[in-house]
Amino acid sequence: MSNDIRVGFSMHPRWVDHGDLESFVTPLRSAGLSALEFELDDHLDLWTDFAPLMEAAFRSGLELCFHAPYRPPRSLVGFAAERRSTIAREYRPMLDIAEEWTQRRGEASTVVVHAARARLPVDPRSLLADTEVFLHWLLRTYPGLCFALENDHPPEGDEVKIGVEREAILAMLASVQNAHLGACWDMGHDVLRNKTEEEPTPAWLSKVAHVHVHDVDNAGKDHYPLVFGNVPCVRWLRLLRKAKMKGIAVLELQGGRLMNWPIEKITAALTDSVASIAREVG
Ligand SMILES: [Zn+2]
Repeated sequence: MSNDIRVGFSMHPRWVDHGDLESFVTPLRSAGLSALEFELDDHLDLWTDFAPLMEAAFRSGLELCFHAPYRPPRSLVGFAAERRSTIAREYRPMLDIAEEWTQRRGEASTVVVHAARARLPVDPRSLLADTEVFLHWLLRTYPGLCFALENDHPPEGDEVKIGVEREAILAMLASVQNAHLGACWDMGHDVLRNKTEEEPTPAWLSKVAHVHVHDVDNAGKDHYPLVFGNVPCVRWLRLLRKAKMKGIAVLELQGGRLMNWPIEKITAALTDSVASIAREVG
C-alpha cells in the first residue's frame, strides 16, 4: 500500500453495464482510484450482483471496503436490550462477507457503521446505549476488521439521531476505546449539519480512519460528484493528509441524483472528482 490515503468509489451494480466492471473503473483508475466500497445489505436492489462485482474488483487489484447495513428495515434499536440476538442474527451474514474478504486479501478491511437512530418518541440515551453495546459486539465478534463510525446526515422531520455532530462521534469512540474503531468523516453530512464549514480540531483529524466525499447542491441535496463547490473536500483532505491519516477517501454518490444528466457529463464529473481527491492525497 503506497499511499496513506487511497481513493475509493462507492459501488453499486447499477454503475456498470452487464457486470463489466473493468470499463467503468478504467478511466477512474487513470484518475487515481484504487479502492471500491460496497454496501452490505441484502435488502438492496440488485443484491445478487454485489458478490460478482466484489470478485471482479478483487481480481482487478482494487482494495475493498464496506458499509454495514443501516437503511430501514435494519435498525439498531433495542440492541442493548431485547432485540440483541435478532439484530446480531441479521447483521452477521452481512459482516461475514467483510470478514471473508479480509481473509482473502490478507489485510484488514474497513467497515463503515452508523449510530442507532429512530423516530420520536425515543430517549436518545437508549440509542446511545444500543450503539455502544453494538460497537462492543462488533469489535469482539470481528477482531480482524476495522470499523469507522460515520457522522450521520442531520435528522429530518421526527427523526432522532445521536451521531450527527463530530463531538458526538468522538464521545462514542472515547467511551468504546478500541484501536480498531475510528471515525468515518462524511464531509457532505458535516456541511449540512449547520450549513457552515467548521474547522476540524486536531482531536477530530486524529480519529478519522475513513472518509466519505460528496458535494451538496444549492437545495441541500447531497451525494453529488464534486461539481458545486459547496463542500470544502479538497481543503479538508489536505488537513487529513497533514495529520497523517491512513485510510480510504471514498467518493460516495447517489446515482439517482444524476438521472437527468447526459452520460458524458456523468463520466466527466466522476473522473474529475476522483482526480481532485487523488491530487490532494496522492
Ligand atoms: Zn456517507
